[in-house]
Amino acid sequence: MHEMSLMESVIEIVCETARLNGARQVKSIRLDVGVLSHVDPDALLFCYEAVRHGTLAGQANLEINRIAGEGWCLDCGKTVALQKRFGPCSGCGRHRVQMTAGDELKIRDMEVI
Ligand SMILES: [Zn+2]
Repeated sequence: MHEMSLMESVIEIVCETARLNGARQVKSIRLDVGVLSHVDPDALLFCYEAVRHGTLAGQANLEINRIAGEGWCLDCGKTVALQKRFGPCSGCGRHRVQMTAGDELKIRDMEVI
């Protein structure tokens, strides 16, 4: 389960940022998780419960924001919705689509006290 190491990195970054800002506690964390990324939000939440204890983020609320898939179709010359990785263009049905959104896993923001 690679979500465990992802979540460990997230907690590490969040706690380091909180420490640098002199925070006593992390109140909330918001993550952007693309629907086309190979990351399962339920698994992330599960791993979060496992890794947050004893850290500055021990009481933090985790919110997962899902980012829809999008790509640039070379044939249509525009951004189109993308249902899956390397999937067809929703406009012309061809496969010359470069994924531009939906693959991310990033910390959108966090609140500290
Ligand atoms: Zn197209």
